[in-house]
Amino acid sequence: GNRTFTMIKPDAVKAGNIGNILQMITDGGFEIKAMKYTQLTEEQAKEFYAVHSERPFYGELVEFMTSGPIVAAILEKDNAVADFRSLIGATNPAEADEGTIRKKYASSVGENAVHGSDSDENAKIEGDFHFSADEVV
Ligand code: ATP
Repeated sequence: GNRTFTMIKPDAVKAGNIGNILQMITDGGFEIKAMKYTQLTEEQAKEFYAVHSERPFYGELVEFMTSGPIVAAILEKDNAVADFRSLIGATNPAEADEGTIRKKYASSVGENAVHGSDSDENAKIEGDFHFSADEVV
């Protein structure tokens, strides 16, 4: 697949790292196909993370993801999903490789700076969740 979906999460937006993270994304060879600055409602965050609804951190995750603005984007590159997950690094920044976005900008396993889709199927679902067809260029 050649597309993935990302969010720059509220911690990274608050820390002033939108520009730094977008620079790493474009330096990594990803082309931005759609992008918006927005704040998730509780309903949107619950739906987006519904797969985690039985996990102990679900409430904390929804609270965090609605705590401030995010940047949502659809990115294009060959092998986009896997290459983007390599660029962002492990969920827990303590385990993330040097040079990854989470190593540089994430502070904890919960507040980990960025989201990246985990499959082509989810990339499509997540992109469609945030963008209508006319917002993708
Ligand atoms: P993402 O889906 O955001 O790219 P991921 O696929 O690396 O992250 P998942 O295991 O799918 O990680 O978890 C989704 C998100 O839930 C994580 O990015 C993180 O914000 C939060 N999360 C995961 N594990 C924990 C935890 N133990 N405590 C708090 N929050 C967590």
